[in-house]
This record gives sequence, structure tokens and C-alpha cells, in this order.
Amino acid sequence: MNIVARVASIALFFSVLALMITVWAGFPGGETKPDDMKVYMEQALLAPASAAGVQTKVLLGQSGETPIKQAVYTAGAGKQAASAAAAQAQAPKVDPKAEKKVYLTFDDGPSDLTLEVLDILHKEGIKGTFFVLGEQAEARPEIINRIYEEGHTIGNHTYDHRYDKLYGHFQDFWAQIKKTEELIRLITGERPQLVRAPGGTAGHFDQAYFDLMEQGGYRVFDWNVDSGDSKRRGVPAKDIVKGATAKVSGSEAIVLLHDSKGHEESVKALPEIIGYYKKQGYAFDVLTPDMQPVQFKAQQGAVKASQPSRQWIENHVLANAKLFETGRTLAVEFGAMETAFEPGEYKMEDGRLMVPLRALSERLGGTVSWEGHSKTVSVALGGKRWEADPLRRSITPGETWGRPLPSDVRLIGGTAWIPLRDALAASGHPVTRVTYKDAEIRIITL
Ligand SMILES: [Zn+2]
Repeated sequence: MNIVARVASIALFFSVLALMITVWAGFPGGETKPDDMKVYMEQALLAPASAAGVQTKVLLGQSGETPIKQAVYTAGAGKQAASAAAAQAQAPKVDPKAEKKVYLTFDDGPSDLTLEVLDILHKEGIKGTFFVLGEQAEARPEIINRIYEEGHTIGNHTYDHRYDKLYGHFQDFWAQIKKTEELIRLITGERPQLVRAPGGTAGHFDQAYFDLMEQGGYRVFDWNVDSGDSKRRGVPAKDIVKGATAKVSGSEAIVLLHDSKGHEESVKALPEIIGYYKKQGYAFDVLTPDMQPVQFKAQQGAVKASQPSRQWIENHVLANAKLFETGRTLAVEFGAMETAFEPGEYKMEDGRLMVPLRALSERLGGTVSWEGHSKTVSVALGGKRWEADPLRRSITPGETWGRPLPSDVRLIGGTAWIPLRDALAASGHPVTRVTYKDAEIRIITL
């Protein structure tokens, strides 16, 4: 729960408590009347709840930028949403020092400067969040690895940062997110779930972008403190310190900084920025997917985005969200080889494991090809050749051409899925054992 929601719930608690005391005091001899009290409590609970249903906007007074409205995020969590304004108005006396948090975020890297940033963070004993670009990650995988190894959080900032390519069609934005995600996953083994839109969402995201990213399982974060280090070239360190330490409404500061080429002054400013927040009693933390993201409000006419088709959304966006569900990894041992499917990459149907045939074959060193004339998939895997037939729901082993065996091969969204057990048996490695651990299902074959 984020600070706003937490403050709101504390406020709610106190107002309910106050009402209870009032009710209690109103009955002589401390006699309780449960029914009456229930009514009062329901009224007390209803009041903020109805306010929370509305997206209340708070003006962010950002220096040098057009005032941007900050939306309190309500998608899929209407009950949790509470307006920042209402929360502040009702907030009881809580020790603000205990709750203040600062999130340093670094965009557009990695670059050589990232190494200096990492040295500073290490020296100060704090963690940061890096929204990296795919093309930079591709060029400097060793820096991505270091960011990860040192316990910082990596977010996705698209592949090439080009507004003209990103903000016309959602599918293009999505493609860059997925491409970058795969690059990072290859380096760290983890998919970044946090996303920051190049240039921020303001003027770029329409509501469809927000909704589809949320449905795809991502968390989009803007910021509420702009260091101003990318307003123009060569902003001096003292101005960056000033921008990065501007007073923030609320007790959470998400600070925008850059660690890409040319941002030496940001690096120079960093120790002083950290010093300021330490002195002010802030705790340093990394952004997480379960936080309530700070987002600018979708603006009318921000993007003339073409809405993807329902089918496209189903196949890409909705299926994608499963990647971030916590579930078991499916590990498959196959002779001397081993591969793994992450949650979302395989299906469990009626206790039967289904995998995409192409992914299975290729990860285990085999090949697949679609035979247009017979509408079958021909597979070469583990030294065996066989055919999968999604129309007849069968597979035909090479040894017994012409004698198909029933198998629930299916085409789902243009992809052939197959029961894992059948595919392994046809490839000469029948399943001998399955083990279930907390985070893993492991398939052991002959
Ligand atoms: Zn950027």
C-alpha cells in the first residue's frame, strides 16, 4: 500500500474511532447499542469510499513545465484508491519522518556514467531504480548485470526512446517494451515489470496506453520531482541539486535523473542530492510493482493512438499478464539438455502440461516447420522425426508413418500447443518422473 492510501486508511481509522467515542459517550452508562453503532460506522465508512471512487487530480507545481495533473491510480483497485487531497485534509498527526521515502530513478542508461552512479550509491549504502533503454542494454550488458547484481531495480524505458516511433500506435510501443524486456531477461534472467515512458506519459499516453499496459501486467511510473537535468544540454550541477530537492507534496519523492551520456553534471550533483534527503530523514528505496504508481493524467489528444483489435489485445496483452503472475517454473530435462518455461509460457490444463511446440523444440536444439499442404507441423527433435496434426489431434512418430497416435495438439492464436508428455515421448525421451517444489515443476525424462 502506498503512503497516500496508508495515510487515508489511518485517517479513516481515526474518524471511525472518533465516531465510536462520540457514539459511546452519547449513551449513558457506557451502554452500547450495537445496531446504532453499526449505522454510524457504515456512514463513516461510506463517506471516504464514495470520494475515493472519483479520480481526484492534484496539481503538481513543476518548475518550468506546464502544470501536469497527477491522477490517483484507480484501475483495478477502486477500493484502495483515495484522493491525495482528501487524505491530506483528513490526515491525523502522524510522524512524517517515519514515513518519508525517496526513490532515485535514473533514465536512459546504461552508459559509462552509470558506473559512477553505482559507485556513489554503493558508497552511500542506498539503492536506486534504473529505467534502461534496450539499445543501451544491448551495447553494455555488463553494466546491466552490475546494476542487477548490486541489488538495484531495473525498469524498462523502451528500446530506442524515439517519440515518433513510440507514440503513434500502441503496438509499436508494445513491441519496444517486449524487445527490451527480452534483452534484459537474457542478461539478468528477470523480466522488468516497471516501465517508464520516454518523456513521461504526459502528452504521450492516452487512456488506452495506460489501460493496456496495466492489463499486460506492467506498472508505469512517472515522477513527482524533476531534477531538470535534461531540460537542456549542460544544466549545471547546482541547478540539478535545486530541482532534485524541490519540496514535494506528500511524503514520497520520486526523483527523475539521467545517467546517459552527457549527464556528468547529474553525477556531480548526486552526492549532494542524497545528502539532502538523508538530512531530511527520508528512507531510500526502489520502486516496486505493488506500489501505487505516480502517473500523470492522460491528456485529451495526447496521442492519436490506433486502438488494437480485440484479438490482438487478447493474444498479446492479456496473455502477457500471466508472465508476471507468481507461479512455478516448468523445468524440462531432456538428455543432456535442460530448458525452462516461466509461468505464462506454459499451461496446465486438467493436470496436463501444455507447451508451445516450437518453443519446446527450438530450446532443446530441434526444429519445427509448418507443412502447408498437409496442415501439420513437422518436428525434428532428439534425433527423432515426427509430425503433429492439430486438425486431427494426433501425432505420428517417424517409426510408424501412417499410424497416428491421438494427442491433444492444438492451434491457439496461430501457435501449435502440445501436451508436453506426448512431445517428449515422440522425441525419444519419455517422462519418467515429475517433481513439484515451491517454485518449480521439474520433468525428468529417460
Ligand atoms: Zn528518457
